[in-house]
Amino acid sequence: MKGVAVLGSTGSIGTSCLKVIARHKERFRVAALTAFGNRQLLDLQARAYQPCYVGLVNDTADGWGSGRECLVEAATRDDVDIVVNGIVGAAGLEATLAALKAGKRVALANKETLVMAGELVRCAEREGGGEIVPVDSEHSAIFQCLGGRRGDTASRVARIVLTSSGGPLRAWDADRVRHASVDEALNHPTWRMGRKISVDSATLANKALEVIEAHFLFGLSYDRIEAVVHPQSVIHSFVEFVDRSVLAQLGFPNMELPILYALTHPERLADDGTVRFDPVAAGALTFEPVRTEVFPAFALGVMAGQAGGTAPAVFNAANEVAVAAFLGGAMPFGRIAEVIGAVLDASTDAAADSLEAVLAADAWARAQAARVLAGDGG
Ligand code: NAD
Ligand code: MG
Repeated sequence: MKGVAVLGSTGSIGTSCLKVIARHKERFRVAALTAFGNRQLLDLQARAYQPCYVGLVNDTADGWGSGRECLVEAATRDDVDIVVNGIVGAAGLEATLAALKAGKRVALANKETLVMAGELVRCAEREGGGEIVPVDSEHSAIFQCLGGRRGDTASRVARIVLTSSGGPLRAWDADRVRHASVDEALNHPTWRMGRKISVDSATLANKALEVIEAHFLFGLSYDRIEAVVHPQSVIHSFVEFVDRSVLAQLGFPNMELPILYALTHPERLADDGTVRFDPVAAGALTFEPVRTEVFPAFALGVMAGQAGGTAPAVFNAANEVAVAAFLGGAMPFGRIAEVIGAVLDASTDAAADSLEAVLAADAWARAQAARVLAGDGG
C-alpha cells in the first residue's frame, strides 16, 4: 500500500488523481491533501478519503495545517511515498524540492517548478534519492516511449517532438487572436483544465514551458526538442531514437492515464476507468507547424530556455502575472506576449544555481511585469 499526498487536490489534476485512487484503493491510500482556498471541496474530499493530514494554504480550519508551510509538511510526511504535485504556478516549487530531498517520488504536473528551477530540482532529485515521474501528458508519453528510463536519454534519442493541440485560437488570423476574449481563450478544444494552463494553451506559452520541462527532465539540448501542432490530441508526443526509429504514445485525451502511470511506474495496473482507444473513432490524425508569428509567447519561452540561467524563471513569472491580468479583464489577449517580451528584455543574465537566485529572479520579474502593466494606463 502506497501513501499518496495530493497537493492541489481541489484542482483539475487533483480531482482527476482522486478519481484514479478511488478505483485502486487496494494499492493507494490518500495520506495528505492540500488546497489553496476551496475549503468546501477540500472538506468533502477529506471526509471521503480520510487522510491523516489536510492543509489549506489561504484559510484556517480546526485540525488542519495552514499557510504555505502546509505544502512542505504534507510532502515530507513519513506515511507519504508519492507526492502528486497538482499545484498551479511557482507556488509548487518548495514542495517539489522538499519531497525530492526526502526521497519521495514526485508525480509532477506542476511544470512551472521545473521551468523556474530545473537545475535545482534535478540536483535535489540526485542528492535526496527521490525521483520525478512526469504527469504532463506529453512528457508522460515520452517517458513511456523511453521504456520508463530517463537516465540515458541523451545517448539513445536523436530528437523528441512534443505535440500541441494548437489551442482554441489555432486557426485564427493574427488580429483576431490579439483581441480574443477570456471565454474564447478558455474554450480549449480537447482538454478541460484549470484557467491558467488553459490560457497558456491559447498563447502557446504552455508549449514553451513544456519544451523547457522536457530539457530538464530528459537532459536533451534545445536543438533536439521540437513542437508540432496536432489538433486531435491523440498522439501525445514522438520520440525519434538515434537509429531514426520513431515511437509515439497515443490515446484519447484524458489526464487520468498519465496520472495512473506516474503512480504505478514501472509497473502497469489494469484500469477500466477511461475510454478505450478506438482508431476508427479517432479518425484522421493531422499535423501542422507551430505558427510562431501569431503566437509569439512560444518563441519567447523557447529563447528563454536556450538563454538558460534565471531566464526561464523570469519568463514563467512574467507569464503568470500577465495571464492573471488578462483573466482579470485588465488587458487584451495580445498583450500577454508583449508583457513577457518587455520583462525579458529588461532582465539581466544570472545563474540559477541557488534557491535564493531563482526566487529573486521570480520576484524581480513579477515586479517588472506589474510596472509594465501600470504603464498601460492602469
Ligand atoms: P487548477 O487551477 O485546476 O488547480 C490548481 C490547484 O492548486 C488547486 O487545488 C488550488 O487550490 C491549488 N493552488 C493554487 N494556488 C496555490 C498556491 N498559491 N498554493 C498552494 N496551492 C495552490 O490547475 P490544474 O489545471 O489542475 O493545473 C495544475 C498544474 O498541472 C499546473 O502546473 C498545470 O500546468 C499542470 N497540468 C495540468 C493539466 C490539466 O489537464 N489540468 C495537464 C498538464 C499539466
Ligand atoms: Mg501538456
